[in-house]
Amino acid sequence: MEVQLIILGPPGSGKGTYSMRLINDLKIVKISTGDIFRDMATRSDELGKQVAGMMKRGELIPDEIVLKIFDERMSQPDTKNGFILDGFPRTVPQAKELEKIVKIDAIIHIIAKNEILIEKISARRICSNASCDGNYNIADISRNIDGTEYILPPLMPKKEGMCDKCGNTLYQRSDDKPDVIASRLEVYEKQTKPLVDHYRDKIPFIDIHMNRPPEQIVEKILSEIKKLGI
Ligand SMILES: [Zn+2]
Repeated sequence: MEVQLIILGPPGSGKGTYSMRLINDLKIVKISTGDIFRDMATRSDELGKQVAGMMKRGELIPDEIVLKIFDERMSQPDTKNGFILDGFPRTVPQAKELEKIVKIDAIIHIIAKNEILIEKISARRICSNASCDGNYNIADISRNIDGTEYILPPLMPKKEGMCDKCGNTLYQRSDDKPDVIASRLEVYEKQTKPLVDHYRDKIPFIDIHMNRPPEQIVEKILSEIKKLGI
């Protein structure tokens, strides 16, 4: 099966986790512009140097370059079974250009209430050891908001404040604080709304509530994809 997907979801919606599981289950690859830019920046050719410079200066990579990089990535053989795009397209003009290059089978749109996202992100605890990927979540959410039942159990370390994997201390990232999260969510909404409007009636659109643990969300996504008969 070849399946070409885009995933849209606010910070803290678990988008990265779902994508990782989907690529395993569907035998496809994940293409994230963040990853591509980082790879690109290590290259010694002209484009690599250009991207590295823009990243260093904190500049937004222009659409023209993003699309060029994307096109190059798409020509690699590992994309032949399909892909899931994460973080791209980011704007309607990018989406329109993308449509000229590839056909997208479905949009997976992860939805969650801001109060849940804020609670969940504020509860993230990351291992202070830079070479360890230990990450935890101390929020235990179980309640009904406007008719949607959220059941999101915590992912606690065995010993409070310590990483299970390496024993180092855990900490909270500075952009995981409530005021920073609120502005990240605002940016996301502003940026994503036009994309949602652009895609909703155009491409099969799968709305998924982030109201259960990741394995259940992934099951839901897979069954919705199956229904589309791609
Ligand atoms: Zn650790």
